[in-house]
Amino acid sequence: MRSRPPRSIAVIGAGVAGCGFVAALRQLGCEASLSLWEIGRGPGGRSGSRRSRGDAALVIDHGAPLLNLTAEPPPQLLEPLLAGGWIEPCELRVATLQGEAHLSQGSADGLLAGRLYRGRGGMEQLCRGLLDLAGPAVESHFNSLVRDLSVDGAGRWQLCDAEGGVLQEADWLVLSSTLLAHPRSQALLGWSAVPLRRVAAELGDLQLDHVLATIAGIRFEARSNLLLVLPAAAAAAWRALPFDLLQFDPAAQQRWGLQRVLIQPLSDGRCAVVAHSSRTFAADHLSLYGEHSAVARLLGLPPDRERLATAMAALEQQLLQALQPWLGSPSLEGADRQLMRWGAAFPVAPGLPSELCVCAASGVGFCGDYVAGPGFGRIEGALRSAERLASALAAAPAA
Ligand SMILES: Cc1cc2nc3c(=O)[nH]c(=O)nc-3n(C[C@H](O)[C@H](O)[C@H](O)COP(=O)(O)OP(=O)(O)OC[C@H]3O[C@@H](n4cnc5c(N)ncnc54)[C@H](O)[C@@H]3O)c2cc1C
Repeated sequence: MRSRPPRSIAVIGAGVAGCGFVAALRQLGCEASLSLWEIGRGPGGRSGSRRSRGDAALVIDHGAPLLNLTAEPPPQLLEPLLAGGWIEPCELRVATLQGEAHLSQGSADGLLAGRLYRGRGGMEQLCRGLLDLAGPAVESHFNSLVRDLSVDGAGRWQLCDAEGGVLQEADWLVLSSTLLAHPRSQALLGWSAVPLRRVAAELGDLQLDHVLATIAGIRFEARSNLLLVLPAAAAAAWRALPFDLLQFDPAAQQRWGLQRVLIQPLSDGRCAVVAHSSRTFAADHLSLYGEHSAVARLLGLPPDRERLATAMAALEQQLLQALQPWLGSPSLEGADRQLMRWGAAFPVAPGLPSELCVCAASGVGFCGDYVAGPGFGRIEGALRSAERLASALAAAPAA
């Protein structure tokens, strides 16, 4: 049984759950030394924003565009995030495309139920706000893929890089992503065995074995998103559309290969348009990484430009055809195009039962939107699971 409250914790992933966990832990007064490890260039994960170094006005929410709260009471971190100006309530003009071309106001989609919020100035602000709440004493490591795990003779966790070098040691490990625990990553990252499963076999912790067997059974839906940035001249028609978010009903998804379209006006007159593919389109293009994929970059996988161009052209054509009744035939001259692939965009219920999230014997905690409970598969669930795990680790174990 590990010490609780822990003395040191290594957290894998700086998405909402990882950042929410360190924030919640600090709010509870836990003074453990904390390190945060993240593949991406900054915090956010699937709730991140795409930015460009030489183009300050370019901010594109390429994953989750908003956060919706459907259960009460709200997560405890909500109030400080609002008070700090990191997130704000959001009022969107939402429409649903039904079948071929019938537009109705509003949407019955679960991602739009309840109260809506968004990051102020981009969704990544949500995670930046959480890190701000956690304070300066969290060691954040971006651009860092934790490639492997091991446990030393004293039972401390070791996070390792591709060469087997030890990046960090800690007495507790928190996984805010299933990457190191799910068989899907074996093919993706070229492992001979799933890292946490290999270590669990050595540790002989029955609860950890049970958790890993449950995680192995979780399926994920993928998404391939087309990101368009339209220059001001071409943007006017898109900015004048009668909706900010267009949801596609099942018949429209099947017809157009799209699930949602987000119109994101930029401060300098340009407009970003993010077209989320249907899960079927994404499943058919699973092996195709975008040119800016952090995983592909770290693994040294070169982009397959020909297939990328074909997939983006297909999405663009479907988008233009679906919106033709409202846009006519808009010019896309000067538009910038990118593909953003999310291999595990949404976990499929039921997920990991929350009572399994602390494996005290081996010192492993789990949080993330893959944990069952209110908000499962959404930001709300990621945040709530992070708060639950922080409370469990900050509390002394029952006598
Ligand atoms: C296209 C899309 C649209 C969405 N729309 C909505 C929406 O409208 N509303 C909503 O509520 N939710 C939406 N979601 C879901 C939402 O984004 C997620 O529920 C939420 O962001 C999950 O946060 P998380 O912290 O659990 O996981 P993630 O955001 O996946 O964070 C995990 C992090 O861990 C990092 N990581 C994993 N393994 C390693 C490793 N070995 N080493 C280093 N780093 C590692 C990853 O890079 C990642 O940043 C959407 C998701 C997608 C993809």
